[in-house]
Amino acid sequence: MDHQHPPLKLHFIPYLAPGHLIPLCSIATLFAARGHHVTVIITPSYAQILRKSSPSLHLHVVEFPARESGFPEGVELMSAATNLEDAGKFHYATTLLRVPISRFLEQHPPDCIVADFFYPWVHDVANNLRIPSLAFNGFSLFTVAAMESVRSNPALDSNGGPFVIPDFPHHISLCSRPPKRATAFMERLLETEMKSDGLIVNSFAELDGVEYIQHYEKGTGHKAWHLGPGCLAAKMGEERGEKSVVSEKSVVSEKEFVSWLNSKQPKSVVYVCFGSMCRFPDKQLYEMACGLEEAAHDFVWVVPEKKGKEDESEEEKEKWLPKGFEERNAEKGLIIRGWAPQLLILGHTAIGAFLTHCGWNSTLEAVTAGVPMLTWPVVGDQFYNERLVTELRGVGLEVGATEWKVMGYGEREKLVTSHCIQKAVRRLMDGGDEAQEIRRRAQEFADKAKQSLRDGGSSHNNLTALIAHLTRLRDAR
Ligand code: UDP
Repeated sequence: MDHQHPPLKLHFIPYLAPGHLIPLCSIATLFAARGHHVTVIITPSYAQILRKSSPSLHLHVVEFPARESGFPEGVELMSAATNLEDAGKFHYATTLLRVPISRFLEQHPPDCIVADFFYPWVHDVANNLRIPSLAFNGFSLFTVAAMESVRSNPALDSNGGPFVIPDFPHHISLCSRPPKRATAFMERLLETEMKSDGLIVNSFAELDGVEYIQHYEKGTGHKAWHLGPGCLAAKMGEERGEKSVVSEKSVVSEKEFVSWLNSKQPKSVVYVCFGSMCRFPDKQLYEMACGLEEAAHDFVWVVPEKKGKEDESEEEKEKWLPKGFEERNAEKGLIIRGWAPQLLILGHTAIGAFLTHCGWNSTLEAVTAGVPMLTWPVVGDQFYNERLVTELRGVGLEVGATEWKVMGYGEREKLVTSHCIQKAVRRLMDGGDEAQEIRRRAQEFADKAKQSLRDGGSSHNNLTALIAHLTRLRDAR
């Protein structure tokens, strides 16, 4: 920073879902750490959290339209919706934020706006104000490129079943087609994202791979800026009082939990968590419990609390948990009912594998921690992420999920059986050459992740280049 180039003023607008908000706010702290003036536009309950976790960020608070949305006061989280109807209502509420946010942008125009792609109108506001804007969608660029290829080849839609991603750097095949309802919504958003001046990617170039970055940029003419992994940003900012951005308070005492993990051998525990949105039906949870028990490895299993069923009866519980499961596994396993401290868990040496839905944040957090993955995608981008993790980067194994849902709720046509689950867990946890190689590669990518944010690393250099680019644009105005 110098007198010639005063700090940039940047406004960040995260979407109100953990998988979007956590990474975008983490990336915002990277700009603040370079001395720029970063304001996050946010609703009251998240503002409270960010005030504590990220003192380097300025906040502009807008009220959440609770009355209009029918959501209870103070619940400003997409993850509080547990069915499609509620998710629709929630999304509608976020569209109402357009008025107060646009007003703020017009009254306090920054040098650049960084907005989640769930706010597609932002780029028009930015263009009217002649301010550059950057989009963020929370996906890996590999996945965005895959979605782009599918979108620009409409002929694909006519034949169901397995397909190969068209015009792609590698031959990547998927077992089933994404549901039209899900892709239509996503594709519209990806299209409007092109109105922005570039895409911020929460990943590092080595993980997506140069060939996919070039493929995306050449194919779309849109610039991608890899600035992540955001989950490491807090670690780097610890001396400035930064903590990891979280969206909810953990339901377990971290001290007791760490002492339980400390009692376990290194790499001996399987961590099972499906992110903030996925809600499996009881039958699927039951299969999961049986699979974990049959695999006979230690585990931490995160099971979201069911809405309105905080006092679950034995009868209710036996629908998803085999009789006597907790007693039989008292030593071997922990079930967390609610929000788990995922970064802390993945960072513990006892964790040997992560059974994950491949949400991009969870995937990146596992890569950064060097924890190999057992992949079980459920919706949207997760099926593409699985291909990157298993086939291209070799840091995980598939469990065998094939059913592509629109959202993470509701009944399934196809259950993933306990047999598939125990087989995948044992393949990775029982050792052997294949598992060793996956562990070696996982460690290699963890080292690359850390390197990318250090001086001279790829994400560090990208941030320098992006700041220089935005400064030039500002100075030319
Ligand atoms: N997460 C967490 N505790 C939980 C569940 C999720 O800390 O019990 C965090 C996780 O670390 C990640 C985010 O919530 O940062 C989930 O994002 P992801 O993209 O993996 O999945 P989504 O929730 O969007 O499906």
